[in-house]
Amino acid sequence: MNELREILIGCPYCGENVEITVDCSVERQEYIEDCFVCCRPMTLSIICDAGEVDLQVRRDDEC
Ligand SMILES: [Zn+2]
Repeated sequence: MNELREILIGCPYCGENVEITVDCSVERQEYIEDCFVCCRPMTLSIICDAGEVDLQVRRDDEC
């Protein structure tokens, strides 16, 4: 099943809203996406469950 969703997130570095595309055919995923505005790496934790997308974004340089 191919289910792509457009999700708007706030960059944890520069605060700009950036839109990312999430593949909801994968239930749980975590990957790094560079901010389109400031180009710094955001760590995205995404859980897709029954049509609901739970997305958490955090800085890659945080402990
Ligand atoms: Zn940014």
